[in-house]
Amino acid sequence: MQVSVELVAFDLDGTILEADGSVAPECAAMIKKASASGIACVTASGRSVDFQTRLLTRSGLMSCFDALICDERWVFLNTADGDRHAAGRDDGAETLTPLQPWNTEVRDRWAALDPLALQWATRMRDRAAAQGWSCEINDRDNSIARGLRSVTFSMDREVETLVDWLAPQLATGPLACNRNGRIAHIYDKGCDKGSTLQALLGQQRYQDLGPAAILAIGDGINDRPMLDGRHGFAAATVVNAEPAVKSWVRTAGGMITDGERGVGVARILADVLAS
Ligand SMILES: [Mg+2]
Repeated sequence: MQVSVELVAFDLDGTILEADGSVAPECAAMIKKASASGIACVTASGRSVDFQTRLLTRSGLMSCFDALICDERWVFLNTADGDRHAAGRDDGAETLTPLQPWNTEVRDRWAALDPLALQWATRMRDRAAAQGWSCEINDRDNSIARGLRSVTFSMDREVETLVDWLAPQLATGPLACNRNGRIAHIYDKGCDKGSTLQALLGQQRYQDLGPAAILAIGDGINDRPMLDGRHGFAAATVVNAEPAVKSWVRTAGGMITDGERGVGVARILADVLAS
C-alpha cells in the first residue's frame, strides 16, 4: 500500500466480526499490534454503543480503540488516559465521552427529519406490499435513538429492489438511503459513515492527518461513503464483500485482500505495518 496509514476505521459486521459474533484471534492480535505501533484505531459501524462496548471489552480490544462510531453517526471518544495500554486495563464504557457538539447536532437534526423519513419508509412499505412483499418499519423511539428509519425485509432481492427505487428520489433532499443485509436505512445524508468519520477527524488530536493517512475497511453497501474515495481516505475490503464494494475500493485504488472477514483484516493490517 502506498500511503503511510496513521488511523484505521473498521466496520464490524462482515469485517472484523466473524459470523458467530466473535473476533478472530489473528485479527485481534493485529489490531493490538497496529495500536501498539501508534496507529489510531476507530470503529465505523451501524452497531449501537452498548453492543460495541460489550464486544470490544469482551475481546480485550477496548483499549486499542481511540473512538467508536456507533449507529453510523454517534461518535464516542475513548478518553482513558495514556497508560491504558499498560497492564491490560480495559475500562469499557466508563471511558467513553460523546463528541460534542456533533452528537447533539445530529440528534436535533434527526428529530426534525424523522417525520419525512417515516413518510418515505411508509411509501417503501406500500410499494413492497404491491409486490406481495412484507417489511417492518422501526418505531419512533428506535428511530430517534439510532438516528435512522430502518425497513426490514425478508429477502435480499426485496431490499435491493426497494433501495434502488428510493435512492434516486432522495438525491436532491436532506435524506439518503442504503442497505445493510436485509435492512434498508433512511437517514440524514449529513451523517453517513464517511461524513461522521470526517467529523471525528476534525478533533484536534487528528488535525495533522491528511485524508490519505486514513484507511477505511468495510464490506457492505453502507460502507460506501468511507470507501469510495469521496473524502480521499485510503480504502480496503475483504474477499466476502459485495461485488459493488470491491468495485468502489478498486476504483479508489484500494486493497482487496483474499482473506475473509477477520483473516482478511489481519492481512490488510500486516500490509499496513510492513509499509
Ligand atoms: Mg459490514
